[in-house]
Amino acid sequence: MSDVPTRELAALRCKECSAVVLVDGSTRELVCLCGGEVRVPKRVADDLELGRVLPKLDVEREVREATDAVVEASFEMPLPPRLVLGGLAVIGAVIGGVVWSRAGGSVPLGVVVGLALGVLPVGFASQWLATIALGRAVTNASAALRGVSLECPKCAVAIARPTGPGVVKCPSCHEELVVHPEVVVLRGGDRREPLRTEIRERLEGQAFFAPRPLAPGDWAIVLGVWAMTLATMAIAKLGAPFVD
Ligand SMILES: [Zn+2]
Ligand SMILES: [Zn+2]
Repeated sequence: MSDVPTRELAALRCKECSAVVLVDGSTRELVCLCGGEVRVPKRVADDLELGRVLPKLDVEREVREATDAVVEASFEMPLPPRLVLGGLAVIGAVIGGVVWSRAGGSVPLGVVVGLALGVLPVGFASQWLATIALGRAVTNASAALRGVSLECPKCAVAIARPTGPGVVKCPSCHEELVVHPEVVVLRGGDRREPLRTEIRERLEGQAFFAPRPLAPGDWAIVLGVWAMTLATMAIAKLGAPFVD
């Protein structure tokens, strides 16, 4: 379970623009998307059960999983170009061969060691940077979703952004809905695919999905790791500072 509970919410329609305004137990004064004030009927205002937690539902977790899946599927990892990785590997192999030859060892073994040390740490460093970039993309996706307006998936009536996850009956088409600050889907059936589809469509064309080259700071880390690894190899084999 996530630590954000799913609540049963009530919905009212704005008299000015007919948008749906969601009422949770804590809010008593409601303002619609259009700026119009929404009067809460006494029956609702007095209902203490309103906003009660639904312990069997975890909409927050469902939305998080769906967003992760959508972003992971569409995100292009910013990795160093293959030509650069190949070049680093070749230089590593040459350095390995030279170091082993100077130490009076087997040159082919030096080439293999230099190749491995020129490739693997760079691969790990790039992968690590890509994982960080992916995490950033997920955060950006959530922020972007919160910037797009919500509507009922069945009758397309505008829905005010709820303060948290919940279930509600659409006052326009009476369909049971799962609402979240980032997305709204029908409650019935398996929600995994509908959530992903809805999130994918809402994120379409967002700039952070575009493939992005490595930033200069990322390059510094990748090349730094590469140089440090090969220098450590040379020091371990020849002793500092590389003199006979
Ligand atoms: Zn309104
Ligand atoms: Zn509806």
